[in-house]
Amino acid sequence: MPAPSAATPPFDPGDPLGIDDCLDPEDLAVRDTVRAWAADRVLPHIAEWYERGELPGVRELARELGALGALGMSLEGYGCAGASAVSYGLACLELEAADSGIRSLVSVQGSLAMYAIHRYGSEEQKRRWLPAMAAGEIIGCFGLTEPDHGSDPAGMRAHARRDGSDWLLTGRKMWITNGSVAGVAVVWARTDEGVRGFLVPAGAPGFSAPEITHKWSLRASVTSELVLDDVRLPADAVLPEARGLRGPLSCLSHARYGIVWGAMGAARTCFETALRYAGTREQFGRPIGGFQLTQAKLADMALELHKGILLALHLGRRMDAGRLLAEQVSFGKLNNVREAIEICRTARTVLGANGISLEYPVMRHATNLESVLTYEGTVEMHQLVLGKALTGLDAFR
Ligand SMILES: Cc1cc2nc3c(=O)[nH]c(=O)nc-3n(C[C@H](O)[C@H](O)[C@H](O)COP(=O)(O)OP(=O)(O)OC[C@H]3O[C@@H](n4cnc5c(N)ncnc54)[C@H](O)[C@@H]3O)c2cc1C
Repeated sequence: MPAPSAATPPFDPGDPLGIDDCLDPEDLAVRDTVRAWAADRVLPHIAEWYERGELPGVRELARELGALGALGMSLEGYGCAGASAVSYGLACLELEAADSGIRSLVSVQGSLAMYAIHRYGSEEQKRRWLPAMAAGEIIGCFGLTEPDHGSDPAGMRAHARRDGSDWLLTGRKMWITNGSVAGVAVVWARTDEGVRGFLVPAGAPGFSAPEITHKWSLRASVTSELVLDDVRLPADAVLPEARGLRGPLSCLSHARYGIVWGAMGAARTCFETALRYAGTREQFGRPIGGFQLTQAKLADMALELHKGILLALHLGRRMDAGRLLAEQVSFGKLNNVREAIEICRTARTVLGANGISLEYPVMRHATNLESVLTYEGTVEMHQLVLGKALTGLDAFR
């Protein structure tokens, strides 16, 4: 191996593999802007929001995120930033380094609600909703999960039937991020023509979105039920280009890509917290970072953190090249969320009793990741996706 040149920077504990060298200046600029915003607007308050189980000022936060270009960031036109998939991923990482709830707000807005309209909507629907959503003036939500149908949305009961030229939409959706603050809900329902997507404006008679409380995860995120009782919608409320479950599933694949990056943000915060703590906390007369067992933990955390970021970058480059497969997104989601939660749990042990305190971000991130592990396809669903891709055998049912 040739010796590194004199110009090679020394080993950096924050970037041990030199991944920053692989990022374009635009990507780095986006990352730094989002990181600075989160440091200013989220980090000083997040523990309090989390403890209260609220996301106060969510509309103002959405407008600020819109001004940053973070909403529908990789979409083209209609006021969207048209950024690269890698830039979008880095933004997700920085937002989730602050809190998974903030990243969830952005993912659902951009990758689920806006993406659905952008990909499957009519020109008129795009013009009506996307610019205001990109600016954060209108928040969107995405209703697929139902009380009795989560991993298997094919069994959904929500249904819409035609009544003259209108549609009448009835059903219940559960665990819907942004639901009660949304100005528009993208709701998936079965019809005589298969599963279709409907744009339901807030305030439509028969539609309500009660908030779900008593959560022990994603506490600084709005999660709601959607209740739809014979909601009358005009003919142009249906997304014309989406037919069948492929529609919502393609949106989920787009959002999962952001999670591949985001999870590494939560992991990075926990790793950095543990590293700092290990350098200052003394037991048996020396910093705990000087004990081999602690160093083994830190080394293993760093391995999985930076392998995960490399994997996310690889998937981002494939997405930018138009070559990213849904199975590859499953690969990333399964690996990175599972490893992120493991990093957070290990960081928790490094902090001892302080690890369970809200004074430190570790337990908050670990409990948030319990939701991230479940939504957008559980661990088991992604194992089954990969199992099917590897063997050619479908083990879902
Ligand atoms: C905070 C939060 C926010 C969310 N936001 C949204 C949102 O905005 N929009 C939305 O539509 N949904 C949302 N969800 C819902 C989420 O996508 C579902 O919870 C998820 O798909 C799992 O569904 P479920 O909870 O019904 O679990 P289930 O599907 O009932 O699964 C329970 C367990 O059984 C396992 N299992 C199921 N089938 C199989 C099988 N064939 N083989 C092996 N194991 C199996 C699962 O992996 C899981 O471990 C959110 C959830 C949370 C927690």
